[in-house]
Formats: sequence, structure tokens, C-alpha cells
Amino acid sequence: ASDLVIVYHRQPYEEVEDKDGKVTFQENKSPNGIVPTLKSFFGAVDHGAWIAWKLAEDSANPGFEQVVEIDDAYGKYSVSRLPLTREQVSEFYHITSKSAFWPILHSFKERYDYDPVNWPNFREVNWRFAEAAAAEASDGALVWVHDYNLWLVPGYLRQMRPDLRIAFFHHTPFPSADVFNVLPWRREIVESLLACDVVGFHIPRYATNFVSVARSLLDVTVEDRETVGENLTFEGTALNERTVPTRVSYKGREVEISVAPVGVDVPFVEKNADSPETTERTAQIREEMGAAKLILSVGRTDYTKGGLEQLASFERLLEKHPELVGKVRLMHVSVAANRNMTAYEEIQSDIEQAAGRINGRFGRLDWQPIALISRAIPFSELIAYYRAADVAWITPLADGMNLVAKEFIASRTDGDGVLVLSEFAGAAVELGSAVITNPFSHRSMDSAIFTALDMPEDERRARMADLRRAVSRYDVRAWGRAIGADLGMQKKGNDGGN
Ligand code: UDP
Repeated sequence: ASDLVIVYHRQPYEEVEDKDGKVTFQENKSPNGIVPTLKSFFGAVDHGAWIAWKLAEDSANPGFEQVVEIDDAYGKYSVSRLPLTREQVSEFYHITSKSAFWPILHSFKERYDYDPVNWPNFREVNWRFAEAAAAEASDGALVWVHDYNLWLVPGYLRQMRPDLRIAFFHHTPFPSADVFNVLPWRREIVESLLACDVVGFHIPRYATNFVSVARSLLDVTVEDRETVGENLTFEGTALNERTVPTRVSYKGREVEISVAPVGVDVPFVEKNADSPETTERTAQIREEMGAAKLILSVGRTDYTKGGLEQLASFERLLEKHPELVGKVRLMHVSVAANRNMTAYEEIQSDIEQAAGRINGRFGRLDWQPIALISRAIPFSELIAYYRAADVAWITPLADGMNLVAKEFIASRTDGDGVLVLSEFAGAAVELGSAVITNPFSHRSMDSAIFTALDMPEDERRARMADLRRAVSRYDVRAWGRAIGADLGMQKKGNDGGN
């Protein structure tokens, strides 16, 4: 039995099979991100458990061990792999989560597609995650559930195991009531979340939105806290919230609201950024650029990331400033989803067309203004691009946090480089010293990129120094400590692996 159970659809390691069919469990190739931080909590308990899923042709007879024991640098823990069939995964993850929840979470009502949703399947998959967690949890254990595709798990767990402490963290934005309430299952979802002891969000605005949704649907009592003049734990610069909710009472239970923006592993990124390999690769990229400035844009291909709006702004930049043609280059990394989901295929092809049009219009035999990259760049290579860039141009229309922005800053141990950041990325709350822009406004987008390209070195350095302080102050370990405190966990021992 485990005192801490983490329920997250991602597995905590990579499963590698050798030629003889022997399976070993290895550290994820991309050690940045929250998985190491989550695993580090296992060092604070006698035994931990992680619940994920694994694809099975036949869920009755999956053909793999459902529970494996791991004993690594982080401690002793088991990993339960729920066997889900291709169809279950497609319906639970690609359809319900991505076609119905994702657009609503990011406030794109017009992209919401409810017809193909198989709600009984979503309930069933969530029920199975809850059962697996209940089977692993010791008396009074803490179960920590992650992300919207497991929204119903807390409610089911509470029925199965009233003794447990249950926490939930949202890695996405949480929309206001007039958007969230588009979901016909809104009451069921919110009631499940209110079965938690702690519900967590990245930034105060998402917490405020959640509470407004709860108020609109159920008879809840909310306690707020004034934030004016207060040093919030993450010392935000642009909170724009006079109060932040701290507790919701519903049906005699109290639910704590936790706000903790996830950060990056700053020492890890810095170490990579300063390595001889990165330094050499950075110099190579700079040499290829010649005297031209490099604008870097990195994200998954997703309508929420604002890729098309950004390309349009780049086109206007070259139109209005012909002197920049040949002097500035945009490297637009838009990592295509490997699933065949229509919405993502469409946006991918729109981006390709736009980049092709702009290159056709402004390109010369020896010069293309845009390098479009659709495959994922390995993290070690990405860091070299972060280091080589003059400007990181990160302009999502909506984004829970945006780690790319924070990684870019963490990598700039040289103290130079400009970040242009959408005010609708959660990260903007902490990163007020970036050039903040509104991606829905042509004027704001166009002036932000021009300002960034034109910025004198002393201003660049002053802003970057501020940004680097913000990113270091609230890095992934600080997130772990803040969340740990809200969950009543005292962390000891291994603090993230590196
Ligand atoms: N990333 C990467 N290679 C790429 C593009 C992105 O390794 O070519 C990584 C990036 O370093 C970051 C993550 O993918 O850690 C993206 O996280 P973010 O919060 O920015 O966006 P999300 O994809 O989670 O919405």
C-alpha cells in the first residue's frame, strides 16, 4: 500500500524494450518538466504509487504486467498501467478531452465539438483510474490527480474511499462560467472537483474562474483573501486580481484552492545552456545567420498557440519595413501532433501555406525569411536555439503556463535576448518584464515585435535580469514546495534528481 498515489495519464519513465524483448524502465529523455518533481515526492513517503495507462489490444488480456515495482533514485514506488484499448484511448483522450474539453478550457467555444463524445466511455475510463488508485492507497493516503482528462476521478474516489485526502492540479487554463458552462456535464465535473481536499491552478485568474463556475452551478460558500499589497508566494507582477479565493465549502466539506505556477528546472537548463556542446552549436547557428537577427517561435501545432496570427504579423513586419527583408529571420517551430485529429491537421496545413506564401513573397534565391520546422527538436538542440535567438516570440491566444518562455529565460545565462510574450499565457503573470503583447490585436503584435528587434542592449539586459530573477525564484522546486505545503506534505531527500 502507498501513502502517496499520483494519478497522471503520462507514465513516469520511458519503457525501453531491447532486441531480446527484455523491458527496462528508463528516465524520460526530456528530464525537464514536472515528472521528476512529482517523483521526488516519493522520497518523502515509505512507498508511492503512480497510475497511468498503457495501450492494450485487448483490455481483458493486456499481455503486460499491470503493476510494476520501481526502485530508483527517487525512492520505491509502483506504477500501475491500466490496459486501455485503442478505441478507449481515442474516445477518452482524443475525442472527449481534445474536441470537447480542450477548446472550452482555452475559451474557443466555436471549436467545441460535442457530437462525437461518448460520455459513458469517459466515465468508465475515469472510474478505472479511480479503482486503480483506491487499490494502491493506504489508509488516509494522499491521492494527487492531474489534469482535465481525469476530472471525474476525485468524485469516484471519494465514493470508494472516504478516508483519502484527494488533490487535483490543472495544467491548463480554467475558463470563466459563461464559457465552461457550455459543457453539458458541467455539474458532474464540478461536483467531482469539489470532492477534493485541494484543487490547484497555475495562476489566480484560473482559480477565480473555477470559483465563479462553482458559484453559478451549486450552492457553495467561498472564502477570499485580499491580495492588494500582499507578497504572494510567487510575487507576481501583473496579478490583476484584488482577491484570490482560498476555500470553497460545499455540502459540509471544505475544499482548499491552491495557486502555484509551475516552473522549470533552472539549474538543469543552465547547466545544459553552458555546456561546451551547446556553446559550439550556438556559435554554428549564429554563423549561419550572419548579421541577420533570429526570431524564435516554439510550440505545439495547436490553434491555442496562435501560430497563424504570428505569421500574419511577421508578414506585416516585412511589408511595413522593407529594410528588414534579408536582415531578420523567423524560425517557427510548430511541432505537429502525431495523431490524426482533423482540427490539428487543418491548422498544420494553414501554417505551412502561410509560411510558404510569405517565403514566396519575400524570399530570394539565397534567403528565406521563415524556416518552418514541424518535427520536435530534441531539448539539447532547442537550448542552442534559445541561446542563439535575438528574440523569443511566444504569442499563444491562450496557454495554461507556457514553459518554453521560462526555458528561454533560464537558458540565457549570458543575460541578453528579448522575450515577447502573450498576455494570455499563464507565465505572463510572473514575467511582466517581457514585452507583453495581445495576440488578438494587430497593432499590439506588430509594435511588440518591432520594439523587440529594435531594443537597445542595456534595456534588453535590464529586462532579462528581471526575468531571470522571476524564473529562478519560482522554479520547479519552488512549485513542488508550494504545492507540497498546500497538500500537507513535508518533502525531504531527493529534490528533483539533478
Ligand atoms: N519542446 C521540445 N521540442 C520542441 C518543442 C517543444 O522539447 O521542438 C518542449 C519544450 O522544451 C517544453 C515543452 O515541449 O518543455 C512545451 O511545453 P509548454 O508548456 O511550452 O507547452 P505545451 O506543449 O505543454 O502546451
